[in-house]
Amino acid sequence: MSTHLKYDQKNVRKYHYFLLLSLIQKHKQISRSQLAELTRMSNTTVGKIVKELINDRLVIEVGQEKGEIGRKATILELNPEGAYIIGVEIDLTFVQIAFVSLNGKVIKKRQFVFDIKGHPEIILDKVANEISILLTEIGTIHADKVIAIGLSMPGLVTWPEGEVLMVPQFHWNEVKIKEYLENKLDYVVYVDNHVRSILLAESLFGTIKKYKNTVCIYIGSGVGGAVMINGEISRGACNTLGEIGHITMDPNGPLCDCGRLGCLQTFISASELEKNAQAPIEDIFQAYEDGEEWSQKLINRAKEYLGITISNVICMYNPEVVLLAGPLIEDYPVLIKDIEQITNSQTWNALRETYKLAHSTIGKDSGVIGASALVLNEFLRQSVHN
Ligand SMILES: [Zn+2]
Repeated sequence: MSTHLKYDQKNVRKYHYFLLLSLIQKHKQISRSQLAELTRMSNTTVGKIVKELINDRLVIEVGQEKGEIGRKATILELNPEGAYIIGVEIDLTFVQIAFVSLNGKVIKKRQFVFDIKGHPEIILDKVANEISILLTEIGTIHADKVIAIGLSMPGLVTWPEGEVLMVPQFHWNEVKIKEYLENKLDYVVYVDNHVRSILLAESLFGTIKKYKNTVCIYIGSGVGGAVMINGEISRGACNTLGEIGHITMDPNGPLCDCGRLGCLQTFISASELEKNAQAPIEDIFQAYEDGEEWSQKLINRAKEYLGITISNVICMYNPEVVLLAGPLIEDYPVLIKDIEQITNSQTWNALRETYKLAHSTIGKDSGVIGASALVLNEFLRQSVHN
């Protein structure tokens, strides 16, 4: 595979090493004997590998397990400063570049305004330049520990090639982002759709850490989705799995920007609600709070369509958790008020108790943290590759 991480070239690459590392990341705190129990490996083998992880500064000992009678066990944790990731988010209005620790904390950040009229190469040159500035600011000691660069953005992106096939909002077509940036910078670059990176960020660092089967529904200027089955991101044949914004909800419905009629996003995305109401989104939600009838109709319809969507997703993927994310939900939580009840009224009885709803918890840095989650996920997945 061409996706070797820079970091692993100087380290032992083997199955058990990354398996234990990913278990330590997942459990946050765990002892050697718990690791042995989980993996069915001998205490001696676990001890040897943990020693290697500690020598490589990826794992640290943080004290002893309390309250147990008899032998106390030393607790292991991921060393947040053992390695770093550069996370890049390209959004409709700005580009953010962050230096992120292994536990998903933003240490330093730069940003610039995204120019929609700018040629993709000019924007990518600026991204490369800003990354170089950030690395200089951070200093060589830390910069040398960067595993790879992750980049998250809207649109259809191929995986693992990292070519953006199209981003309707930016008018970008067929831009080989991974190849372009890897030629400019001495790092491996991972590129993926932003909804997928939000789901990964919430699974690695957020509140849905303990679940293996999850779906993310994202509502912003458009609508998107991402799916994780048995701990692995599902991508489909062309990495477009989860593009729920263009599911046909009404074949006679309003015209979507994809050129078809009645797609899901024509009923619930911010831009479409604005188009419908001929008013800015703030005014629509203000009118809703004020009890104005036109806005009640519009928002209640959006809620109903969201409920149907969640119900469809439950039938299709049987997730333990459906994560609701995106700026429209974060800025206007009223959109998901009573959503469980609305969803259940649309859901087959037998499936009503099978899922939980969750909200995104990472907040305003979720774009760059999500981009770095793409890298951490690939780094830890080396136990799956090998
Ligand atoms: Zn559409």
